[in-house]
Amino acid sequence: MKNFFKGVRKRIGKLDAEKLREQYELVADEFARSEMLLHVLKDGIVRVDAKGAVLQCNPAAKTLLGSDPEEALRSLGLPLGKTSRLDVSVSYPEPRSLEARTIPFDDETVVYLRDTTAERRRTEEELRAGATKAVCDLAAGVAHEIGNPLNAIALSLQLLKRDPTDTGVIDTCMSQVKRLDGIIRDFLDAVRPRRPNLMPGSVADPLKKCLAALKQQFEERRIKVTLDVPDVLPNVALDAAQIEQVFFNLLKNAIEAVKDGGAIDICIEADDRDVSVGFRDDGTGMDAEQLSHLFEPYRTTKAKGTGLGLMVSKRIVNEHGGSIAAESSPGGGTTFTVTLPRLERRIRALK
Ligand code: ADP
Ligand code: MG
Repeated sequence: MKNFFKGVRKRIGKLDAEKLREQYELVADEFARSEMLLHVLKDGIVRVDAKGAVLQCNPAAKTLLGSDPEEALRSLGLPLGKTSRLDVSVSYPEPRSLEARTIPFDDETVVYLRDTTAERRRTEEELRAGATKAVCDLAAGVAHEIGNPLNAIALSLQLLKRDPTDTGVIDTCMSQVKRLDGIIRDFLDAVRPRRPNLMPGSVADPLKKCLAALKQQFEERRIKVTLDVPDVLPNVALDAAQIEQVFFNLLKNAIEAVKDGGAIDICIEADDRDVSVGFRDDGTGMDAEQLSHLFEPYRTTKAKGTGLGLMVSKRIVNEHGGSIAAESSPGGGTTFTVTLPRLERRIRALK
């Protein structure tokens, strides 16, 4: 199409009215075809300008977002002008889970929406039933992961048998046992989710605990960590141990993504609806392909990864009535944002 337009633009001075009409009809025809494609597409497509005003919206997007797509998009708080992928839920016109992507295009942003309600329900059911491919993949992955530490332990024990004074070997065994424990805990969290025990509390507490636990790693790798907490921080309903696990997973990923001497900036923000915690790192970042599979089980790019951390984190946050979103570009770092509803809102919603 681009070449076609270029060609017409070049010759436009030489075209007579009849020729112009011909070209005009070609363009109108092409336009109608694109409209038709957008019309029949099951996924929602919305074009918005830099201020969030809707320029174009296909029927599927209207079905997903209701009669006022602009307002609905605004309340989702999508990052305009950036590439992102996030899972959101809408309660109107009916409760639905959506996968939302934003793709910047000149001054505009194209928002792509896919209904993932059925898929999500299925994944949950599959994981619960424990007999599905997802679980088999997980189990296969874990079985594979367990092999290395077990071999290392067996080898160490052989060394110890030969030379019982070599106590250094014991440290190797201990660290491998710790790794096994981590793998199994992640796996159990993935297949046997625990309902959160919700209590009123501040997100800052589990966060500070995590930072204390990771302090040594930050120092060893000279990672600069900043923490921005607002003066007034409203409470949320949370299971502090589970939220700590979420923050730990996100921070661990950030540590693994940055170079020595890199930066991790944590920012807590609150508005009338939610409290959000953003984890920004200046690490490797992810491309669109990686982003599109984020939160899926057993997706890892790390030799020693389990690919379960994000999936478990997402489930925990969702069970808290919140959401987790990622923004990333290759080489441009990554931001994960955990959003939890404020306590008052949750109480109102439960009434
Ligand atoms: P694991 O850390 O065991 O690989 P996760 O579920 O925690 O599993 O993460 C899945 C994948 O997502 C990682 O392997 C990595 O490719 C990508 N990822 C997660 N967090 C980041 C980040 N902060 N920066 C870059 N890539 C990330
Ligand atoms: Mg991880």
